[in-house]
Formats: sequence, C-alpha cells, structure tokens
Amino acid sequence: MTRMMADAMCLVVDAHCHVHEGVTRVDDDGGDDGVGEGVVEGKQLLSRQTAVAFLMSRQTAVAFLMSTEPCQWKQVLHLMQSSDQIDVGRLITRKGDIDDKVPAAVACVGIHPWFAHRYVAERKDPANEGDGYKALGGSKTQHSGAVVSTAPYTWEEEMAAVLTEHERVVVGEIGLDFVAKIPESGLVDRAAQQDVFRRCLCLAGHFERPVSIHCVKAYEALITILCDLHARGKQAPGSFTQRGHSDTGGTQSSGGHDPAVAARMAVRLPPRIAVHSYGGSAETVKRLLRVCERDLGVQVFFGFSSVVSLRSERRARANIAAVPLDRLLVESDRADASKVDDELAAVIDLIADVKDMDKQHVIAALNQNALTWAGFLP
Ligand SMILES: [Zn+2]
Repeated sequence: MTRMMADAMCLVVDAHCHVHEGVTRVDDDGGDDGVGEGVVEGKQLLSRQTAVAFLMSRQTAVAFLMSTEPCQWKQVLHLMQSSDQIDVGRLITRKGDIDDKVPAAVACVGIHPWFAHRYVAERKDPANEGDGYKALGGSKTQHSGAVVSTAPYTWEEEMAAVLTEHERVVVGEIGLDFVAKIPESGLVDRAAQQDVFRRCLCLAGHFERPVSIHCVKAYEALITILCDLHARGKQAPGSFTQRGHSDTGGTQSSGGHDPAVAARMAVRLPPRIAVHSYGGSAETVKRLLRVCERDLGVQVFFGFSSVVSLRSERRARANIAAVPLDRLLVESDRADASKVDDELAAVIDLIADVKDMDKQHVIAALNQNALTWAGFLP
C-alpha cells in the first residue's frame, strides 16, 4: 500500500496488535505537558496524547490493543480513553444506517498463554484438599499497584470490573500454546494455560464480549474446551453474579477461585471469537467453522498477519481460500508501530489476490468484519 492511498477510504482496522508495548507514557493523570519525551530502554517515552498519535500509524484507523498480562490493562484502557473517535462510515462501504463512532484504540484485556502459569489458581494438593484452591498471592498483586498481602489474587475480579465499567472492551489476548516453554522451568504448562483460558472465556461469555485467541499446536484442546463449556452451559443454565456469592463466605468477594463458581460462570460462550495470526491448516479452518458456527452458535473469525500467517505463502493462500470473506481479519500482531503499515498491506495484497477482488473492496470488507467481531456493528 502506498502513501497516496492514505485517504479516508483506505484506513485499515488492525484487529490484533501490541503497539502500546513500544511506548512508555510520562503522564498517568491525563495531563499532556509533553515533558520528558525521548527514548528509554528502547521504548518511546511519550506523553499520553503523543503516544496515541504515535501508535496510530498512517494507514491504521483503528487498532485493537491486546494486553498479555493484567499489568497492561490500565495502559490499554488509558490509551482507549485518550484516543480519537473514528466515524464508522469512513471505514466501511455500507451506507445509510451508520452514524456510529469507534475509538481509534480499542482496549483488550487478557492473559496470554505464555504467562498463564503466573495466574493460575494453586494446584490442588491431595494432602491439603480442603483449601487447595488457594490463589497465588505475593508478587502477583503488585502489577495493579495494590498492596501486596496474603489476600487471594483477584485478576478475575479485576477483569470483571473492567468489563462492567467499559462496554466496548474486548477480551484478548488469551489462548493456548502447546509449544511455548516457561523459561524458568523449560516446561509447557498445559494445565495452567487451560485453566486461565477457561476462566477468561467464561468472563467474556458472561459479559458477552468477543475474544482474540492465540492458538499454537492446540486446536484439539481449543475445540474440546469450547465444546465442554457449551455443554456445561446447557447443563447448568444458572446465573453468575459478579459479587455476593452466598457460598464464598460473605466477606470474600471473589468468586474466581471457587471451582463451583467458575463452573456456574460457564453458562455462556463468547458470542464471537477470532483465532489470531492463524497458522493452522485449511482443514482446521473448516472444522472450526463447522463446530463453532453450526454446533456452538459462536461466530469464528480468522486473523492473518504477515509476521506469522504469511511465513508460508502456500499455506496462507490455502487458508485464506478456506475462510469465507466475511470471516477474515487483517492484523499486524506487532509491538513495533513502524512495521504495521507494510505488514497490513502485505496481507491485504494476498487476500485481494486469493479472493480476486480489488484492494479497496477487500479493505472495506476486512474493516466491516473487525467491527462486527468486536461488536461495533450489528
Ligand atoms: Zn498477539
């Protein structure tokens, strides 16, 4: 995509990125005095307004900022609150009934599978069955600025509070990665990943939010978890309320570490999921479409990035061909904002070629898909 195409019709929605990781803001209180801009430890040090402007690369109209741990949730929320509002009519070709606006930076709250082991509830110890579901405490509460104490760690409460307060916030990045080893142990902690992923899915389902899913060599487990939660929802169509569980002992407001509460939350799957940086097979595309859309009533979108999905052009072509046009997303999956434009353009070019469409129509379709997935369009 060239600079001359940088008019309103060509603004692109980046459905999954981490560009906020490339900046450190100097003001947390909403002021914008512009002081202290520079570079610290390889990160741009910017005031809040400048950070938002910096993150929106030339072609990117809307960026879904994926957080990987709770320590990023506040940052992405701040960026969303500081960002411009974009007219939806500028992003899609469908005319008439649209006079809505969408934030240029959309905050997404999640826990990435690479870090799930830090947030899993403590394993049940057979010798200590009674209170084996004790949460991890200590350093896990430091990210939020909360006083470190022996109180249960409550990331689920925090996520629930964010989703309650901000109706446009998406859940991501969450998922499963069965090749990612924990650096300290050299092990892949599948159990931790599945535990945290299930909890995030349940929260997203409860708050009817879309999710962005990272899935590497774990499609069987992904499908199993989705089907299991769906089955539980049918068995126990009770209701989860965020606070005030009578069975948690009154003063303890967290229901997240009570397995019974977690099970009760599993009454609903997220309405729409996006499998981001898709790198599976075309067969798995078809299977996910069949299982999610036909059996589970969940819309499934597939995100394509240059950095991951286009490693093999042959595979990417087959996958793009297998995904219906209205389920395709384009994403950068980048933390470095300077790479975003070129990489989004490479994916758009490939989709235009495979689907035999002109780029303008591809961009409009991809934008519409992203806004539909995220719930900005009906
Ligand atoms: Zn990502």
